[in-house]
Amino acid sequence: MKEFDIIAIGGGSGGIATMNRAGERGAKPAVIEEKKLGGTCVNVGCVPKKIMWYGAQVAEAIHKFGPDYGFSSEKSNFDFSTLRKNRESYIVRARSSYNGSFERNGIEQIQGRARFIDKQTVEVNGEQIRAKHIVIATGAKAAIPDIPGRELGETSDDVFAWEALPQSVAIVGAGYIAVELAGVLNSLGVKTDLFVRRDRPLRNFDSYIIDGLLEEIEKSNLTLHTHKIPSKVEKQANGLLEIHFEDGTSHQAEHVIWAIGRKPNIDGLNLKAAGVELTDKGFIKVDEFQNTTSSGIYAIGDVTGQKELTPVAIKAGRLLAERLFNGQSEAKMDYENIPTVVFSHPAIGTVGLIEEQARTKYGDEQIKVYTSSFASMYSAVTSQRELTKMKLVVAGTDEKVVGLHAIGYGVDEMIQGFAVAIKMGATKADFDATVAIHPTGSEEFVTMR
Ligand code: FAD
Ligand code: NAD
Repeated sequence: MKEFDIIAIGGGSGGIATMNRAGERGAKPAVIEEKKLGGTCVNVGCVPKKIMWYGAQVAEAIHKFGPDYGFSSEKSNFDFSTLRKNRESYIVRARSSYNGSFERNGIEQIQGRARFIDKQTVEVNGEQIRAKHIVIATGAKAAIPDIPGRELGETSDDVFAWEALPQSVAIVGAGYIAVELAGVLNSLGVKTDLFVRRDRPLRNFDSYIIDGLLEEIEKSNLTLHTHKIPSKVEKQANGLLEIHFEDGTSHQAEHVIWAIGRKPNIDGLNLKAAGVELTDKGFIKVDEFQNTTSSGIYAIGDVTGQKELTPVAIKAGRLLAERLFNGQSEAKMDYENIPTVVFSHPAIGTVGLIEEQARTKYGDEQIKVYTSSFASMYSAVTSQRELTKMKLVVAGTDEKVVGLHAIGYGVDEMIQGFAVAIKMGATKADFDATVAIHPTGSEEFVTMR
C-alpha cells in the first residue's frame, strides 16, 4: 500500500497549494485528481473567464470607445475561434507549470477518483492509499434548479467548451457568475438576457455600487429581467429553448445558462466511513483551523462553503501546511477583509463591510460614509460616458476604514493595494495623508470629502 504524510483529494487551487507547501516543509505529499490538474479556476473558472473578459474589453475599446478616439471599427471582424484557441493554449501552459513545482516538492500525482475507506485510507482506481493527514479539497459544481427541462440548460463549464458563440443566451442567476458571463457575452455580441429572482443582481454587495451597475446595464444591450423565477424549460420546434417563469411569462433563446450558485463535490466520497460531518447547507463542516469533525482530516476551499475564491483556498491550504509541518500551531486563515472583484462591465471591487453591515456591527452613530460618482476620464472624452462610483465606510471617532467599494474603469486593478491598508487598520486620515496619483480613478479614494 502507498503511504504518504499528507494527501489532497482534489488537485485544484487549494489541494495543489497545500501539497506544495507541505512538500516545501519536508513532508511526503500526493495529489489525487480525477479530472484536470488546476481544478475549476484554471480549467473552467477564473482563467478562461478572465481571458474572455479581456476579449470583451478589447471589443468595447474598438466598438464603444474607439470611434471617439478616432479609430474606425467598420472593418473589424471578431473571430471567436482565435480567442478560444489562445485561451485554451494559455490554460495548457498554466497546467503544465505544475510539473516543475511537483518535482521540486516531491509531490506524487495520482490520477483518479478518491473515496474514503477509513480515517486514514482512501481508494483510487481500486488501489488503497494511506496518509497521516488527508485534506479534502474537492471544490464545488454548479447547482441546477429542480424544474422540468433543467437538463436543457447549461452551466459555466459548458460555456467554456463552446466552439462558437450563439446568437442569444438567457442567463439565470444573480451572483458573480451570472453577472460576469452576461457582461462578457453581451460585449462579444451575443444577445444576452439576464434573469434574477429579486429586484437586482449581487444583492450582497453595497447597494450604492450596484445602483451604478444597474445604470450601466440600462445603457448597454444587455437586458436585465427582475423578479423572474424559472418554472420550466422546453425545446421549441424552431430549435430555440423557451424558459418559462412563475409569473406566467416566458423567453426564447438559443442557450439557457444556470448560474444560481454552487454545491460541494462530495458525491461518492464515502464521508461516513471517515466520520466527516456536513453543515446544514451540505458543505463540509470545519473549525477555524480547517479541521473537520474527524481528527487528521481537513477541508479547504469551495467544498467548505467558506468564501469561494481561489486565493482563499490557496491561503487556507498553505496555512494548514505550515501548522502541520512547520510548527506554526496557531496558523489559520483570517476570513475578514477579503478583497474581491466581480469582472462585470465595468468591474466592481470591494473589501470589508458594506454600509448596511457596518451600521449593524458598529451602530448608526459610529458610521460615516464618503461617496464619489463621476465619469471615468477614459470614457469622458467619448459619447459613451461610463460611470465610476466609490464609497468609503468609516467607523468610530478615529474614522477607521471598515469598507471600501467601487465600480468603474480600472477598479479591478485598484483594490488590492487598498486592501493592504485596510488590513493594517488604516483610517480616513491615513488615506488623506497619502499623496494622490494624478490623473487616475484611484486618487479619488485619497481625496474624498
Ligand atoms: P477546485 O478548484 O474546484 O478543485 C477541486 C478539484 O477536485 C477538481 O479538479 C475536481 O476534479 C477534483 N475532485 C473532486 N472530487 C474528487 C474526488 N472524489 N477524487 C479526486 N478528485 C476530485 N475565484 C476567484 O478568486 N476569482 C475569479 O475570478 C473566479 N472566477 C470564477 C469563475 C467561474 C466560472 C467559477 C465557476 C469559479 C470562479 N472562481 C473565481 C472560484 C474559484 O474557481 C474557486 O473558488 C476555486 O477553484 C476553489 O478551489 P478548490 O481547490 O476549493 O476547488
Ligand atoms: P453566487 O452565490 O455568487 O450567486 C448565486 C445567485 O443565484 C444568488 O444571487 C442567488 O440569489 C441566485 N439563485 C439561487 N438560487 C436561485 C434560483 N433557484 N433561481 C434563480 N436564482 C437563484 O454563486 P455563483 O455566481 O454560482 O458563484 C459561486 C461562487 O464562485 C461565488 O460566490 C464566488 O465566491 C465565486 N466566483 C468568484 C468570481 C470572482 O472572484 N470574480 C467569479 C465567479 C465565481
